[in-house]
Amino acid sequence: MATFCFPSKFIKWIMICLTDTSYSLMMKGRLQGSFAGRKGLRQGDPISPLLFVLVMEYLTRLLNQVAQHREFHFHPLCKNLHLVNLCFADDLILFCKGNFRSLNLLMDGFLRFSQSSGMSANLNKSHIYFGGVAADVKNNILSSILIEEGHFPLKYLGVSLKPTRWQVADCSEIIKKLVIQEIDRICRNFLWGANGHRSKFHCSSWSQVRLPKSLGGMGFKEGSNWNKVLLAKFIWAVSTKQDVLWVKWIDALYLRGQSFWSYHLKPDVSWYWRKLCYLREEFSEANLVNSLQRVPVAFAKAVWSRLTVPKHRFILWQSILGHLLTRDNLIKCQISVNSCLCPVCERAEETHQHLFFDCSFSHQVWELTKSWLGSAIWPKKFVQWKMWLEGKPKNIEHRIAVASLAAAVYGIWCNRNTCYFSHCSSTPLRLVYMNRLSLKARFFGCLSQKCLDKNIAIAELVRSL
Ligand SMILES: [Zn+2]
Repeated sequence: MATFCFPSKFIKWIMICLTDTSYSLMMKGRLQGSFAGRKGLRQGDPISPLLFVLVMEYLTRLLNQVAQHREFHFHPLCKNLHLVNLCFADDLILFCKGNFRSLNLLMDGFLRFSQSSGMSANLNKSHIYFGGVAADVKNNILSSILIEEGHFPLKYLGVSLKPTRWQVADCSEIIKKLVIQEIDRICRNFLWGANGHRSKFHCSSWSQVRLPKSLGGMGFKEGSNWNKVLLAKFIWAVSTKQDVLWVKWIDALYLRGQSFWSYHLKPDVSWYWRKLCYLREEFSEANLVNSLQRVPVAFAKAVWSRLTVPKHRFILWQSILGHLLTRDNLIKCQISVNSCLCPVCERAEETHQHLFFDCSFSHQVWELTKSWLGSAIWPKKFVQWKMWLEGKPKNIEHRIAVASLAAAVYGIWCNRNTCYFSHCSSTPLRLVYMNRLSLKARFFGCLSQKCLDKNIAIAELVRSL
C-alpha cells in the first residue's frame, strides 16, 4: 500500500483491521469467550475483497514489468494488448509464448510476488496448457517445472474454453440445458397444453403469440429473440468501442480500428464473432426504424385490462382474432369432424358469429348478463366487436363491461367444449351465476376503496354481484 502511495494514516487503519482481529465463539446461543486472530482476515470479511484487488494490482504491475524484459515474448494473440494475466477472485491465468525463457521469466515474476505477498499458487490445482508448441520444447518445459499439463477444454469461471472450433459433442451439456428451441417448446406446451412431445392443435401461430400485446400478440418472450436482445448488448459495446478488455481484444484481433458496421467479415474468424457480425443486419438503422413504426392494435388495452380475469382475457383474445377451434375453423384446417353443426344447439353451422351471438344458449347468456350490468350494450355482430373494444373510452364503466363480456365469452366457450366432449350442457342461469361470482372476486381484488368511493354506481353494481 505504501508503494501505491496510500496515506500512512490510512495504511495504519488497515493494519489495525488486519492485526487486531479477534473471534468470539457462540455455543448454544451464548457467547463462550474469544481469541485473537493471528493470520489476517477470515474469508467473507467485507474488507478482504478490496485488499485482494490491491494485491492483484501489485501482481499485474509486477508481471507487466516482467513483460518488458527483452527476452520475454508475449503469447502471439496477446501481443497487441500486452496481455500477460487474467484474474478473477482466486482464479489466475498467465499467458506467454511457448518457449522456455519466457515461461521462466513469468515464473520468476510470480515467485517474487509470492515472496512479498505470502500468497502462492496451489501447484496441485494448477495446469499448463500448450497450443502449437513443438514436442521437444514442450517436454523440456514440462520436465523443468512441477506443473501438470492440462487439456482443453479448460474451465474458467464455470465456462469451458478451447482454442479450436466447438463441435456438438463439446457443447452437449450446454445444449441439453439451454437450447433455445427447447425453451420455446416448453412455453408453447405450457400455453396450449401438450399432446405427448408436441403442443396441442391451435390456430394462433407462434409468430402471432410472441408479438407484444400492443401489436395484437400475447407478449410471449421468444427464446431466439431474447437471445438476440442479449447479444445486442455486446454489439453496442463493440460498436461504441467501450473501454473493456474483451472489446479491446476484438478490436485488436479483428476490427483493427475499423467501424463495426463497415467491417468486412473474414473467413478465419471465431464462431462467436461471426454470429455477432451476422446480427448487424437485424440491428441496422433501417430495420430498427421499421420495427418502431409498426402500428399498435387499438383493442389491446381493452382485452388485456387488469380488471378482466386472466383466463378470460386469453379466450377473449383468441375469439377476437377468430382463432378458437370452432367447427368451421377445424374444417378450414382440414381436421375431420363428424358434423359442422353447433355442438350446443345443433341447429346451425358452428362459427364464431353463431356460437357467441346467434346460438339460443348464448342469446340467453347475453340477456341475463345485460339484466344485471344495465347499460352495457355491445354489438350483436361478432365482426363489430373489435370496433366496440377499440372505440369506447377506457373509463371504469367500460373496463367493467369488457371484463363482463370476457367472462361471458369464456363461459360460452367452456360450455361449448363440455357439449362437444361430454355431451352435456350447463344452463345459461348457472353460467351467469358462476361468472358473477368470479367477477365479484376480481373487482373487489382490483378496484381500490378510493375508486369505489368515487363511483357510487359502480360500487353498488359490484356489491350486487
Ligand atoms: Zn348453437
